Amino acid sequence: MIRVTPAGLYCERGGFHIDPVAPVARAIITHPHGDHAVRGSARYLSTPSCAGILQQRMGAMARVDTLQYGESLTINGVRVSFWPAGHVLGSAQVRVEDRGETWCVSGDYQTTPNATCEPFEPVRCDTFITESTFGRPIFRWPPLDEVMNGVHEWWKANQSAGKASFVYVYSYGKAQRLLSLLDPAIGPIFAHEEIRAINEHYRRAGIALPQDLPAETALTPDLWSRALVVLPPSVRWKPAFPFHGHFEAAFASGWMLLPSEHKRRRMSTGFVLSDHADCEGLLEAVRGTEAERILVMHGYAREFASQLSGLGCNATAIQIPGSPTPPAIPDDKPIAETASCRPSGR
Ligand SMILES: [Zn+2]
Ligand SMILES: [Zn+2]
Repeated sequence: MIRVTPAGLYCERGGFHIDPVAPVARAIITHPHGDHAVRGSARYLSTPSCAGILQQRMGAMARVDTLQYGESLTINGVRVSFWPAGHVLGSAQVRVEDRGETWCVSGDYQTTPNATCEPFEPVRCDTFITESTFGRPIFRWPPLDEVMNGVHEWWKANQSAGKASFVYVYSYGKAQRLLSLLDPAIGPIFAHEEIRAINEHYRRAGIALPQDLPAETALTPDLWSRALVVLPPSVRWKPAFPFHGHFEAAFASGWMLLPSEHKRRRMSTGFVLSDHADCEGLLEAVRGTEAERILVMHGYAREFASQLSGLGCNATAIQIPGSPTPPAIPDDKPIAETASCRPSGR
């Protein structure tokens, strides 16, 4: 029903692509992160809460239609619907039904609670196409309150040392999640304009975020040593505001579990905060679909598919054009020996 083409996942009978990597006639978008939405398609379809950001990113002239979660649209006889993916505000899994057969394309997803987006819902289907960004057993997220404790203690220690605290984090989704979890009683919170623009989309959708001051104009010398500044990784080497003193920098990402990534990003401090499922979350999602067949894309596709095969699933890795190769994990245990990822009773 859905196959990989040079432009990405394609449903031939429906005549549409899902998250195409090149311009197409009809693009169904799980969420407008850069690796899921590219400019130049004739038509786009997304959830209403993604549509504002999608429109901004695809350009004012792009035609963006919307479909609510749970409602269905029939395209050339094929029924399409969106289901919450728990990744960023408005992110969706795409359910595709044709002649009694159901497929689901996950997009990016997270199964654990995130106050800044709609909770993940498992979709029953015959074939599930899952992402596997963190599909190695080493990726097991620490409890969220432990991570946030670490952030808050680091912020307070920097204050005592008279330094500002810079946290680098992806501007759409992760930044809002981090902001929603910060304790504003500790000190003033600043954000880069790119992040503040996306915060406005979130607030309009009813998501509560603490007050975020503009880093470019409001970060004055008297506030410097108490400030926590949330910044996109892209501005790391070209700061967007005047400096008034010393600072400490940290990166918040699931990749911070890998020591090699600290080194690559030249970061001494990392907080393990992700908006993707960890390895167990991926397994839990796969089980929830009760699918007969699993196709695995993005990230550790080959390794995660072989892990699923080892558990008795009919799983195959697929290669989406342009999908980057994830970092090698030389010291990870062989998948078969890692008991933590085995489901209980299947
Ligand atoms: Zn994403
Ligand atoms: Zn992605």
